[in-house]
Amino acid sequence: VLLVAAMATVIAVTTAFISQDKPSDEIDAKVQDLLAKMTLEEKIGQMVQYTGFWDVTGPTPSEGQSKRKYEQIKKGLVGSMLNVNGAERVRKMQEIAVNETRLGIPLIFGLDVIHGQKTMAPIPLAEAASWDLEAIEKSARIAAIEASAMGQNWTFAPMIDISRDARWGRVMEGAGEDTYLGTKVGVARIKGFQGDDLSANNTIAATAKHFAGYGFAESGKDYNTVDVGLSTLYNVILPPFKAAVEEADVKTVMNSFNTLNGIPATGNKFLQRDILKGKWNFDGFVISDWGSAAEMINHGYAADLKDAAVKAANAGSDMDMESYAYVDYLKGAVEEGLVDESVIDEAAARILRVKFELGLFDDPYKYCDVAREKELLHHPDHHAAVLDMARKSMVLLKNENNILPLKKGQKKIAVIGDLAADKDSPLGNWRMSADANTAVSVLEGLEKYADVKYARGAKLLNDNNTNFFTELDVNETDKSEFKEAVQLAKKSEVVIMVLGENAYHSGEARSRSKLGLPGVQQELLEEVYKVNKNIVLVLMNGRPLTITWADEHVPAIVEAWQLGSQSGNAIADVLFGAYNPAGKLPMTFPRSVGQVPIYYNHLNSGRPTSDAIFWVHYMDEEVTPLYPFGYGLSYTTFEYTDLKVNAEDAEAVTVTASVKNTGEVAGEEVVQLYIRDRVASVARPVKELKGFEKIKLAAGETRTVTFTLTAKELGFYNNNGEFIVEPGTFDVMIGTNSAEGLAGSFELKQSL
Ligand code: BGC
Repeated sequence: VLLVAAMATVIAVTTAFISQDKPSDEIDAKVQDLLAKMTLEEKIGQMVQYTGFWDVTGPTPSEGQSKRKYEQIKKGLVGSMLNVNGAERVRKMQEIAVNETRLGIPLIFGLDVIHGQKTMAPIPLAEAASWDLEAIEKSARIAAIEASAMGQNWTFAPMIDISRDARWGRVMEGAGEDTYLGTKVGVARIKGFQGDDLSANNTIAATAKHFAGYGFAESGKDYNTVDVGLSTLYNVILPPFKAAVEEADVKTVMNSFNTLNGIPATGNKFLQRDILKGKWNFDGFVISDWGSAAEMINHGYAADLKDAAVKAANAGSDMDMESYAYVDYLKGAVEEGLVDESVIDEAAARILRVKFELGLFDDPYKYCDVAREKELLHHPDHHAAVLDMARKSMVLLKNENNILPLKKGQKKIAVIGDLAADKDSPLGNWRMSADANTAVSVLEGLEKYADVKYARGAKLLNDNNTNFFTELDVNETDKSEFKEAVQLAKKSEVVIMVLGENAYHSGEARSRSKLGLPGVQQELLEEVYKVNKNIVLVLMNGRPLTITWADEHVPAIVEAWQLGSQSGNAIADVLFGAYNPAGKLPMTFPRSVGQVPIYYNHLNSGRPTSDAIFWVHYMDEEVTPLYPFGYGLSYTTFEYTDLKVNAEDAEAVTVTASVKNTGEVAGEEVVQLYIRDRVASVARPVKELKGFEKIKLAAGETRTVTFTLTAKELGFYNNNGEFIVEPGTFDVMIGTNSAEGLAGSFELKQSL
């Protein structure tokens, strides 16, 4: 029902926020039964998660933390393990929990399955560029099938943090800057991981993370302070989490390292108890981020580990990942009356509930089938699906004079760039289980189409043996291989340059203060350009880059991100036209790093952007982005006509437009709908995405696309966190990206 405020007064839509008691079901009864048998220590044990510690196929650990963890598992004082990977290993550890403890409660095994287990899909930011929710859901499904075959019950994904800051390395792990797109993508991923039946042996619990605000780390420095206003919190940061709970029934939520307006997320009662468990009625459990309870000491919010345990538990953080706070201090805190036993009961019940839902009590070993593991990892169907996903994730940024696609018989193709031969970087960061160097390289992909000649041109890194834990050793200087590359370019008709970032240039703790091509790649590009202007630049990277020079000079640019196992095949298919690219940017590309944060759905200033002095501008840079949000070209062209708005219906506003494929080949287009609420009680952004549809059109074909706007799309949260819809004038645009389209407007009448 469309709710519209009467007489221009704001009426809060409270229905979505009223907490209701969940009907007590069969599982609740089982949980309560079990809980009644458990000691306080055992209940706290469920709230403890440790990382993998010893090879369970090997000898029993005899010392240190490993021994301690082992002894605690045997006593039933551990609820979960992370980073224990493989059907056999998981089984061995599960056997300890099930056979050696008093109550035989199974462990729940979690892992960061972010974009694939063994068969790697594109990084999440790349997948978001496909705007193809079905394909994204399928990609998560495949990751779940393979992860569950390796013993996992639970992934710490999807990351649904919205971020507007390309300096932050973790943008590779999310869906970009927009809340509407990010919400849809997040829901699709959760559905893919959790499937229709969580108790099946090929579905796993998902995690909506990081709750909340982590993507807004000041100056893009990972782990940094987050200080945001209420309007941003309610309208930009929280909606993907609300949808994760209410639309996708996500089983777990991970809190985050950061403080949010001065209060660490892990100790944040407002976020975890009032909003998540209160207003949204979340019935899964909250996992802390790694050691984030303990980090509250550094934040200056907890005095010591005991205080951290008390504050985290009371604030609703149910399971402690690797802080040793709950395991060491929670029992004492309850005995002293600092934490009520009901807090422990609630947390343990939530965790047990998810274990029951996963079916772990029925068969704790159903995820530990070695034969299934062997059959499913790297299954050919999975490779076919990630190839499809990889093709869909690419964004054509520039294509002057239709230099692309290359003709099949195209001769004298030079390939330049370290990343062209790299079989590891396409796997991206966050691939805990992938085997290194297993991606199809760009060179390997191209060789299937043409005879190409390769010169590296420059090393990207000094040391290629980098991994998740190592700092990058960036090579800034060595140009000794330039000459060979330039000579090759001189003799060639077309030069494909594959430039960008190593897999570990983005990801956790991979903040950058510069957003250009790392190392000497920019200089290499300019040197090659001097001898051959016929360059196709293929970008491989985990975040938006400031490629302004390339945009001004190079005729063709393809954003290929890090596309996973099938990367090279997908890139070759696009370069040679076997696949017509249709991706659209999920994040704005800045011209220079100084423009960051730059995002399309900003508020207007009182002095809107212009070149005039005393209006919003830079003296030394354009204010516009290099490429706007939603931008992406095709090998064909689309024409938009006939924008029509019907705002007369009682229930919804409908907006239609016709889209025609005016080129020579079939192609796909992501038709995007944006609105602006012109005057509101809290100022609204200049534009907001509120609908999109990906359509495929044959050459010459026209299709009418219809969007329906209801209260959900037309309303917003006020600064009290109430969802409201205000009557008045709305601008509407249907277009090919956030900056270009057909514009109109309509009146939302109070009598709708
Ligand atoms: C990350 C989480 C991740 C966890 C477990 C942390 O460092 O912030 O996103 O799930 O580690 O690996």
